[in-house]
Amino acid sequence: MTQILYNSTRNNQNKLTAAQAIVKGIANDGGLYFPETMPTIDLDWDHLKDASYQTIAKLVLGAFFTDFTEDEIAYCVDRAYDDKFDNELIAPLKAINEQVSVLELFHGNTIAFKDMALSILPYLLTTAAKKLKIEEEIVILTATSGDTGKAALAGFSEVPNTRIVVFYPKDGVSDIQERQMVTQEGNNTKVVAVNGNFDDAQTKVKELFNDQALNKQLKKQGFLLSSANSINIGRLVPQVVYYVYSYAQLLKNGAIKSGDQINVSVPTGNFGNILAAYFAKLIGVPIEKLICASNRNNVLVDFFNEGIYDRRRPFYLTSSPSMDILVSSNLERLIYLLNQRQDEPTKEWMEQLINKGSYQITQTVKEQLTDFYANEADDFLTATTIKEVYQDNHYILDPHTAVAYAVYQQYLKETQSQDRQNVTVIAGTASPYKFPESVLHALEVNTAQLSGRQLIEKLAEISQIEVPSAIKNLFDAPIRHQEVVEIEEMKDTILRFLIKY
Ligand SMILES: *Cc1c(COP(=O)(O)O)cnc(C)c1O
Repeated sequence: MTQILYNSTRNNQNKLTAAQAIVKGIANDGGLYFPETMPTIDLDWDHLKDASYQTIAKLVLGAFFTDFTEDEIAYCVDRAYDDKFDNELIAPLKAINEQVSVLELFHGNTIAFKDMALSILPYLLTTAAKKLKIEEEIVILTATSGDTGKAALAGFSEVPNTRIVVFYPKDGVSDIQERQMVTQEGNNTKVVAVNGNFDDAQTKVKELFNDQALNKQLKKQGFLLSSANSINIGRLVPQVVYYVYSYAQLLKNGAIKSGDQINVSVPTGNFGNILAAYFAKLIGVPIEKLICASNRNNVLVDFFNEGIYDRRRPFYLTSSPSMDILVSSNLERLIYLLNQRQDEPTKEWMEQLINKGSYQITQTVKEQLTDFYANEADDFLTATTIKEVYQDNHYILDPHTAVAYAVYQQYLKETQSQDRQNVTVIAGTASPYKFPESVLHALEVNTAQLSGRQLIEKLAEISQIEVPSAIKNLFDAPIRHQEVVEIEEMKDTILRFLIKY
């Protein structure tokens, strides 16, 4: 098997092994690591249709991370995708009707799709560090506005040779999000509220990563700072797995025949999930159209239609908050690839995005975006979609998944003259239990008098789906983290936790 190296999207000469790229996260030049060549995988569907999620994960991860041994990949996969998932299929595919299925990516620790990657990243990271003979204990440092923090905490909790410190803005996260974090178990975890907003906390964390004195002191004590950033290649590649798996499951269920093309519709924010679907297409999964679904923050819709990325626009808070984003970092990888892997223009466009707030791709690159269809759904359409799918199919979508469903329907309408429609997989990125208030609103239930716990009970009554344990235990779990600090105290807090002075 040929070795695959990873180079920066902003400098083709800057090359690392997968293990090095996973430990490094982001390149010094600001670029994202990209496989020098796409792996060739023998996708034997006859065999894959009966394979477990874990088997497919080993196949895909092994093909991308060629410097990891088979045993190392197996170790990571088996520890990540175990009974912390509340469904033994890990990512079950639920048919809504003959044409469309929801790929449920929300059966992990925090009942949302980031668990798919954050369950395995800690193992990839510690295995990579061991391979590289890094002896220090890895300390993950994160500022969070809510969801990623909890998914990272759950992923790293009790993972040997790691610690994790998460800072969140005291008044900047929802009650449920705060409760999820402050009840986090695991002696290697630390959750701290900060008096300040998310940007203040984030800026301070970035400053601490670059604080030479701090890094030196920590190294002396046996610690190495790292991040669980969403652009890490160790988060992207595990997401390719479930697109391979979903094609195999469609074959198994008889929804498609071998060789049939499918479409996927993905509720998109940072462009990581849909890029993973594109990687799946590139390694040979028969995916025809990639439907990129946005909420009212429609910067990607304009990009796909006009070839111009322009972040200079109002920012809206929507009912699908995990997609409220103006800069979709992972898009850099798509642009780099479609521009024949040219590093110079990629670097230039990304600098323009920072300095000017926008960039325009060339006509040649724009013409290659035809594998994608992009459109948007506002909160009203999202709510209507939740209600209609419930009424017609007795399936309850969360607001993010509903955005993908609504945009899929727009695509269908625009292409209905075609005599053949592909079976479509909708990426289901969150459980409705994560957003009970929006979901009940959409179903026209009056929620005004209901407490957090009552919202959950009401949703359980309507959906007849068992409340996930991640939610069930939340209201009774003991509070384990209570510290509130000022921004200036963040550094000391980290040192106290690690060194216990
Ligand atoms: C993060 C997230 C998304 C967006 O995924 P990207 O990979 O950032 O495009 C969509 N839905 C939910 C629930 C998420 O948590």
